[in-house]
Amino acid sequence: MAMASLLESGWTYLITHFSEFQLSILGTFIIHESVFFLSGLPSVCFERAGLFSKYKIQRKSNTPDVHGKCIMRLIFYHVFVNLPVMIVSYPAFRYMGLRRSLPLPPWSVVLSQILFYFFLEDFVFYWGHRVLHTKWLYKHVHSVHHEHATPFGLTSEYAHPAEILFLGFATIIGPALTGPHLLTLWLWMILRVLETVEVHSGYHFPWSPANFLPLYGGAEFHDYHHRVLYTKSGNYSSTFIYMDWLFGTDKGYRKLKALEEQEGKQC
Ligand SMILES: [Zn+2]
Ligand SMILES: [Zn+2]
Repeated sequence: MAMASLLESGWTYLITHFSEFQLSILGTFIIHESVFFLSGLPSVCFERAGLFSKYKIQRKSNTPDVHGKCIMRLIFYHVFVNLPVMIVSYPAFRYMGLRRSLPLPPWSVVLSQILFYFFLEDFVFYWGHRVLHTKWLYKHVHSVHHEHATPFGLTSEYAHPAEILFLGFATIIGPALTGPHLLTLWLWMILRVLETVEVHSGYHFPWSPANFLPLYGGAEFHDYHHRVLYTKSGNYSSTFIYMDWLFGTDKGYRKLKALEEQEGKQC
């Protein structure tokens, strides 16, 4: 059976066996939890076991206590912040055209919508994140995310509830504006989670996407943001590098990279 019809019959099974609420809210929640923890836990294991230390960006490692506290807080926030937000915002998504019926959208529509979401999210996130680095908001809100100066995959969603709402807006504005198919929404969420977990992983591998994808920041880019003092860090974008380049907020990072390259050549 061709891939498209296999997907279509799988989707038919889902919409005939599960209610709209079960699929759109619980389905979305379960997919998010599975993808987030499955992709985030490997970097915790690598850190604990001392694996791949050659590719670790920082020498410092987190203690099991730090990992444990992060995981407990995340479960709490996911259940008591993310889930209620999904329930409350769902009517708005539906109003804007979110659908789950057949036929499934063509891949050209799915991929172009997701690409648009990535660029829109990055743009909104950049400005929102810069605002969070002003003194009052940093002290009272954003410093929670920066408790981890040595990030690991799961720290990507570790933030003050106000920040979850504020920057979460950047993630949902694209789908809210375009009213996609539920399948597109799920794919967008999966890719966005994998991306943010990757940039917080603390590891830069030879197979990391930053080595292949143009404009993609990657783990080194965001790790620098966590490592450096909050007034000097720059690198505010979530996914791409061009916003920081355009607005000159990547100068410190570029200087460091140039220095590292020079040192590399001298060795
Ligand atoms: Zn920050
Ligand atoms: Zn971060």
